[in-house]
Amino acid sequence: MRRKVIAGNWKMHNDLKQSEVLINSLKNLLKDKSINCDVIVCPPFTSLTEASKLISGSIIKLGAQNMHFEDKGAFTGEISSSMLKSTGCEFVILGHSERRTIFKENDIIINAKIKKAIEYGLKPILCIGETLEQREKEVTKDIVKQQVEIGLEGISAEQMKNIIIAYEPVWAIGTGKTATPEQAQEVHQFIRSLIETKYSKSVSESLVIQYGGSVKPENANELLSQKDIDGALVGGACLNADSFYGIIKES
Ligand code: PEP
Repeated sequence: MRRKVIAGNWKMHNDLKQSEVLINSLKNLLKDKSINCDVIVCPPFTSLTEASKLISGSIIKLGAQNMHFEDKGAFTGEISSSMLKSTGCEFVILGHSERRTIFKENDIIINAKIKKAIEYGLKPILCIGETLEQREKEVTKDIVKQQVEIGLEGISAEQMKNIIIAYEPVWAIGTGKTATPEQAQEVHQFIRSLIETKYSKSVSESLVIQYGGSVKPENANELLSQKDIDGALVGGACLNADSFYGIIKES
């Protein structure tokens, strides 16, 4: 039985003070509750160190939103995996659709980042998903297959134990449009079958596959009750402690 994982991607929101307020509110909501899932917050880089101190002793885990694929060097404005580790980060989101579209990251770059993250003991959350145009052309599965195959190229079965995949249809991110539970389940099942073919049944059955795309307390239950949906990567709704907690409660 896979334990569900609910992760909040804060994106470029919340300065230090706002981050402190949000984490403290979430901690208060989670205190003394029996929670059936893992909870991850992914604040901006500037809040990671403070967030790490604030979540200490709570069930909340820490993730970053991106990193560079080199160890160090002349890469102005970039952040390395060892820098993330030094803040107390355990997870890192890689290949988010905003990185792919706005910052032109491709599957090869994302694969290099996945390898570097693993080398430094960070657990990648690999984001994949099709655009609206690709869905309408009925090439969703081809796109997802390519993103999985190239994104995980050179990753061993052992290393897969530390990877989460987040299926996030691009047309559902920040748009208020959610994939129906059936649409999401169909792609999640397909992703699991790809992992079974590439690795083994046991690797595919242990893999956590999150859904992302306008998840909110009102739609979380029907999505999270699908057989192959093992959690959620949440954008907008994680910026409010009550709504993020509302999703966590549905796990
Ligand atoms: C995301 O950014 O990964 C995301 C799913 O955003 P939203 O929940 O706002 O659609």
